[in-house]
Amino acid sequence: MIQRRKTRPIKVGSVVIGGAAPISVQTMTKTPTEDVKGTLEQIARAADAGADIIRVTCDTKEAGETLREIVKGSQLPIVADIHYDAPLALMALDAGIQCLRLNPGNIRQPEKVAEIARRCQALGVPIRIGVNAGSLPDRKKLAGGRGEGGIPEVAQRMVDAALGHIAILEEHGFQDIKVSLKASDVLTNIAANRLFASLDNPYPLHLGLTESGPTKTGSIKSAMGIGILLAEGIGDTIRVSLVDEPEEEVRVARQILANLQEKPTGPNLIACPTCGRLEIKMVPMVAQVEEALKRVKRPINVSVMGCVVNGPGEGMHADIGIAGGQQKGILYRNGKVVATMPEAELVAALVTQLDQIATEDARLLASGQPLPEGIPEPEKEPVPAG
Ligand code: SF4
Repeated sequence: MIQRRKTRPIKVGSVVIGGAAPISVQTMTKTPTEDVKGTLEQIARAADAGADIIRVTCDTKEAGETLREIVKGSQLPIVADIHYDAPLALMALDAGIQCLRLNPGNIRQPEKVAEIARRCQALGVPIRIGVNAGSLPDRKKLAGGRGEGGIPEVAQRMVDAALGHIAILEEHGFQDIKVSLKASDVLTNIAANRLFASLDNPYPLHLGLTESGPTKTGSIKSAMGIGILLAEGIGDTIRVSLVDEPEEEVRVARQILANLQEKPTGPNLIACPTCGRLEIKMVPMVAQVEEALKRVKRPINVSVMGCVVNGPGEGMHADIGIAGGQQKGILYRNGKVVATMPEAELVAALVTQLDQIATEDARLLASGQPLPEGIPEPEKEPVPAG
């Protein structure tokens, strides 16, 4: 069991971040915010994939104006991403957003910072202070340097920047804060967040790597940069940043949490790595199963195995699965063989069963009932393999 760092909870809409709250998953829309329809469609897909919170950029007056409509149509609490523009922050607050991402030190007029803090306080809207290594002044001069205790200078400077922004908000009596410290390399990311977590402050941490890259490499970097910190009890909410759709970011984030047993999540696909005994076309079969699993919401283990010799044994701990070979294959549920069939029918048989589970999940969710873990026993008597 991971012992989490003690933090003071904040609320982003109905989602609690920090304290004893489960670690939440965030993502960010990639549409121009002025495109209300496109943005709401992305939010709906992210929500369906299991996002708890969504961030939306607010970089123009037009974006500030359309935020109201987006807030109204969104299933998820909205974080408005502001950089230097205090009037846009105030517009976003008027629009009803549930969190601001803003670094007060970047806003030149102190009276505007005071106004934003006052309005956030009155509305119960928290502020995320977000420090990125790439935005530090004189970043190039710091490359590779190490300071006291061997801490990378970049990490130290990131933490110092965050503490500076925090101090500005605290001067205004504002403490409804969460903090992110992001770098694009794993070790700097870990060092900065470890350092911040070691200090005596109560603010929850939003974890993520910036510019982590395309889906495959970005997922690996994120699993390391976020996962190592979470395993140490550091981090209260996470965002995986990928060159991919928001819902894909959410799926990867949820997998990270699932692997740390931090959040009940959707299905887990177990697929054999293949070897010289492989007797079926694994790659397209796994791709079809993966696609079908996007519709399943309950936590189940699903296995796809490449031969009938070892496959069933290796996949026996799965809730449902297939093993194929020599032009035929078996479908099993809860460790029992329920059907044998020609290989050509195998994936379709599994996908049909997964679709039935997905339909039941959708019905349960629509009626507000909890999703079960696992699947019911097969209705038909098990059949012998062979
Ligand atoms: S299930 Fe069969 S094909 Fe797949 S790795 Fe195991 S032995 Fe090899």
